[in-house]
Order: sequence, then structure tokens, then C-alpha cells
Amino acid sequence: MANIQQILRSTLRPAARAYSTKYTGGYNFALNDTQKEIQDVARKFAREEIIPVAGEYDKTGEYPWPLIKKAWELGLTNGHIPEEFGGMDQSVFDGCMIGEELAYGCSGISTAIEATGLGQAPIILAGNTEQKKKYLGRLVEEPLVAAYCVTEPVAGSDVNGIKTKAEKKGDEWILNGQKMWITGGGVANWYFVLARTNPDPKAPASKAFTGFIVERDWAGVTPGRKELNMGQRCSDTRGITFEDVRIPKENVLIGEGAGFKIAMGTFDKTRPPVASSATGLAQRCLDEASKYATERKTFGTAIINHQAVAFMLADMAINVETARLAWMKSAWEVDNGMRNSYAAAIAKCHAADIANKCASDAVQIFGGNGFNSEYPVEKLMRDAKIFQIYEGTSQIQRIIISRHIIDAFKSK
Ligand SMILES: Cc1cc2nc3c(=O)[nH]c(=O)nc-3n(C[C@H](O)[C@H](O)[C@H](O)COP(=O)(O)OP(=O)(O)OC[C@H]3O[C@@H](n4cnc5c(N)ncnc54)[C@H](O)[C@@H]3O)c2cc1C
Repeated sequence: MANIQQILRSTLRPAARAYSTKYTGGYNFALNDTQKEIQDVARKFAREEIIPVAGEYDKTGEYPWPLIKKAWELGLTNGHIPEEFGGMDQSVFDGCMIGEELAYGCSGISTAIEATGLGQAPIILAGNTEQKKKYLGRLVEEPLVAAYCVTEPVAGSDVNGIKTKAEKKGDEWILNGQKMWITGGGVANWYFVLARTNPDPKAPASKAFTGFIVERDWAGVTPGRKELNMGQRCSDTRGITFEDVRIPKENVLIGEGAGFKIAMGTFDKTRPPVASSATGLAQRCLDEASKYATERKTFGTAIINHQAVAFMLADMAINVETARLAWMKSAWEVDNGMRNSYAAAIAKCHAADIANKCASDAVQIFGGNGFNSEYPVEKLMRDAKIFQIYEGTSQIQRIIISRHIIDAFKSK
């Protein structure tokens, strides 16, 4: 199998760099040849390497290192790292396209593969040249992963409520606190950590927090036990304790007080991939349910011939298609330099909700078999739920969307 770097370096270059997502003044829903090749690599990897082992990883909850390494070799991770630091400057659109294919195979494994992108995003967004060279370069050289540490036991949606703090002592910062639900928490080589650096509780969020790069091996960094989750079970989720961790001033992102903006700005680039992964899971539900509905017979005919079942499949198709269009638009906007918070919230919220509806309907179409772990849809239903929770819950997405509406009408 050719890896993504080889495809990009193929004869198609420099045309390969001219993503079809680039604004051309009209509508365009066609992938260019390079994108089709990239999609093929991701699809083949998902169908041939992920699907056969997904059930076993779900059962054992083991971290899928062999697949992480293979995905790294194929260039299915780290694509969005800038070229000058060893990456491919991949568009958000192309990253989403890969994410949809991988999540079709197993969204637990795809979350494990892609979560490093969430950890890297703040450094890509706000890191200086030295930080990028050191920390992004490391991920390009070896199949290592990064993680994003914002949520705490007491604060998830309400980021302003986080308690982890860092205090300046000479040329260092001393970090103390506890993070929770960190994807890749036990396997990451380094973390992006958001901490309060202004003790004044009245300080505005835009000035009260600072973003740091923290290495896993530093004294005082202790990941907790692997959490046993409802779905996406092989993805490594943990709490992490930071106790008197000494951070050199070189590991501050931008400067004191810039952290909140960096942590939130990250989501404009990472919510479209979450939406595309949820779309991949929904597409899998549609395919599994359609296949089953043509094979299973009741009352002398395949159940797909009962209109009630066929219409459930039709509704699933409507939802998959609209979720795909929504992630495409949100990715296209950010790739073309537009502010996409509204489109990304719509894409993430819609795809998460429809993934859950599709999974529940797929279980319904499988009847009693759907409720059983010998069939694939029970896992899809468990895996789908987290899409409505991580990277901002569906309620938080609706707050972002409604604020946008309120602002738009206030200014009229
Ligand atoms: C498997 C998994 C992986 C994760 N990975 C990461 C990671 O890598 N890094 C990281 O930093 N975090 C991660 N998270 C954390 C995740 O982002 C949070 O769980 C999520 O943001 C919700 O926060 P919370 O759990 O504290 O719920 P809460 O914020 O306590 O919310 C509880 C409920 O109240 C609702 N709610 C809260 N505020 C409002 C409001 N103003 N209006 C309406 N409803 C509201 C929420 O929607 C939710 O339904 C992960 C979580 C899980 C479970």
C-alpha cells in the first residue's frame, strides 16, 4: 500500500497540493485524484486492518499500538503538521476524509489514532518555531502520540472553572492539579495542559489561563488508571495528576494569559474531524442494517420489503448525507481562512446526534440479534454515545449555534 507521503510526492504534485477544497467561486462536491487516492489508502486500511480486529480490541480494551504504528507508517496520522516540521500541511478537509474512513472501521480505534491531532493542534496553532521543531518533529520521527489536557474532575463544559494552577518561580512554572478524561493520557509522550495562572477569580478567562507543553516523563506527572468506558473502549482515557511539575519557560505557548484562546481556538480545526468520524460510524450503521435487511426474512419476504424498515434506512441515508455535507462545509471554511465555529458546531452536533439515531435504528433493524454482542451494531451503539459528549457536548454546541443566531440578529 502506498503511503500518503508517496501519493503527495507522486507525479500529481504540485497539483496534489491544490486541494479541491480551495475556494474556486462555485460549488464543487468532487474529490480530486489525489484525494481519491488518500481516501483509498484510509478505506483499505479500515476494511483490511481495522475491521477484523475491532471486536477483539473492544473486548480487551487494549490500546491498539500495532494499528497506531501502521497508521503512522501510512501517513494517516500527523498529516496536518506543517511541511517545514516534517508533516504534510494536510488540509482539515483531507484529515476529515481520512477520519470518516477510519471510524467506519472502528471509532474506538480511530479515536486512538486521531486523538494525537487534538494534542498537537494547540502547538500547530500557537507554538513557536523551536517548540514545533522539538515536539511536532518528535511525532514525525517516531510513532509517538500527544494528548490534550483541559477537562478536570470538577469542570468540563465550564472550562473557566478549571482548578489546575501554575505559579511562576524564576525561569520556571510549577504546575499542580488534576485533569480527567484525557484521551491518550496513559500513552502520550507529551501533553498540552491548560492551567490557571492568574489566581484572581475575577480575572477574565481570556487572561486567566496559560497553555503549557508538559512531557510525560517529567517528575510529578502521574497518569491514573485506564477508565472503563461504555464504548470506544480501546481508546486510552485517564485522569492525570500534576504535582509540583517544573515547566521551563520555553514550554509556555505564546505567553502568560493566552491559554484559553488557544484551547478554544483548537476546536475550530478539531470539531470537523469529530463530525466526520461520527459520520463514518453512521455510514457503517446504514451499511450493516441494509445488508441485514436484505437477508433477514419475516412473513415470507426480506424485511427490507416492509416499508417501515425501508423508511428507517431512508432516514439513515438522509442523516448520513447531511452530516457529511456539514463536516465538509465546516472543514472547507477553515481551510479557506474563514471563521468556522458556527459551521463546526453544527457539523459536530448534527453528526453526533445522527450517529446515535442511526446506531439505535440499526439495532432495531437487527431485532434481537441487534442487542447481542455477536453482531456488530451493539458495539456501534455503545461507540456512538461519546460523540455527543467529547470536544463539547451537544448542549454546548447548541449554545454556540444559538449565540451565533442571537449575535446575528442583535446586529441587524
Ligand atoms: C471518553 C472521553 C474522552 C475525552 N477526551 C478528552 C480529552 O482528550 N481532553 C479533554 O480535555 N477532555 C476530554 N474529555 C472530556 C469531555 O470533553 C467532557 O466530558 C465534556 O466536555 C463534558 O464535560 P463534563 O463531563 O464535565 O460534563 P459537565 O460539563 O458537567 O456537563 C454535564 C451535563 O450538563 C450539560 N451542561 C453543562 N453546562 C450546560 C449549559 N450551560 N447549558 C446546558 N447544558 C449544560 C452538559 O451538556 C452535560 O449534558 C473526554 C471525555 C470522555 C468521556
